[in-house]
Amino acid sequence: MNKIFTLLPLSFVAAFILIPSCKTPATTPQIAEPVYEREVLGSVIAKPKKPKNIIFLIGDGMGMGQISAGTYANGNTSNLEKFPVVGIHKPQSGKQLITDSAAAATSFACGVKTYNGAIGVGLDSLPVETILEEAEQKGLKTGLVATSTIVHATPASFISHNVYRKNYEEIAEDFLKTDIDFFAGGGKKFFDRREKDERDLIAELQAKGYTVENYLKEVHELKIPMETADKFAYFTADEDPLPVYQGRDYLEAISMEGINFLKQRSAEGGFFIMIESSQIDWGGHANNSQWIIDEFKEFNELIGKVLSWAEADGETLVLLTADHETGGYTIQVDSKMDSLVTTFTSTHHTGDFIPVFASGPGSEQFSGLYENTAIYHKLRAAMGW
Ligand code: MG
Ligand code: ZN
Repeated sequence: MNKIFTLLPLSFVAAFILIPSCKTPATTPQIAEPVYEREVLGSVIAKPKKPKNIIFLIGDGMGMGQISAGTYANGNTSNLEKFPVVGIHKPQSGKQLITDSAAAATSFACGVKTYNGAIGVGLDSLPVETILEEAEQKGLKTGLVATSTIVHATPASFISHNVYRKNYEEIAEDFLKTDIDFFAGGGKKFFDRREKDERDLIAELQAKGYTVENYLKEVHELKIPMETADKFAYFTADEDPLPVYQGRDYLEAISMEGINFLKQRSAEGGFFIMIESSQIDWGGHANNSQWIIDEFKEFNELIGKVLSWAEADGETLVLLTADHETGGYTIQVDSKMDSLVTTFTSTHHTGDFIPVFASGPGSEQFSGLYENTAIYHKLRAAMGW
């Protein structure tokens, strides 16, 4: 709009130049409106193709050390190498240099820096609309998947607004306030065995049209009833799901089911899904290198499946990043590819900058070095919002 106003004086000048040279009485000069902003400067760039769908992958606590160790331990290869665009974000929160997962996920979801512990609220503790809520309002189908509880900080920040991340039962209530179409993760007890009230949020979800499935041992046999389910919720554990090294294996199966479900339900509208590999962070806090590597390998398998799916789809922006690094995790001098020597400098998060990987239409937005809040703005810009 600004461009049109700045062009107006030019068109008046053009009119005065044209009028004296005309033999016939002056008519309104016809000056074509520029299609692209750059055209008037003589260098036309095509409008980049807009994505229809967003798949946002977050590896909690997955810094360069975790990516490096996971890649080396995976035979020196990973599906992260398939992303054509790489950037870097600065993860500090609004009040602390060292962020927590709540403030970081709120930065991604809402585009604001906030205080550690904040879920979908700004520094003033007031709610800020999330990109998932905006996607819903714009008619997209929406989803969340986590290998933590579904009310844990990272997924919660996309759907809930709460002054404190550990108000899990209040955060669970916020799932009823949206029309999210698909979600999967642990934390069932915050929905149906609540301490603060007698509400059965599972029954309330079902009354709202959700098909709700509980934890199944044979997870790979789970098939969402695509034809009959309107909305789908899948509870993978009463509390925290197990780590991979104790047998958890649902991330890839349920994420791909969710993506296909949202695609099938979205028709013309597109979809937004955030999928979190939650426990890379927990391995960092525990200073447990094998925990980190096992979670990374599982996440890497999912990333490969997602990239293949998105390539076939052709209309999906895939974004992969972390909220922060956890553990000050590094690879030491006596390491070999098949026997890494790693150390930790912390049991907390660190302030390291974090890599961002992007693929598909809109991915060109994500090269460069920028604040974590820019990810929200770049996602919206890619969608043309
Ligand atoms: Mg998390
Ligand atoms: Zn953490």
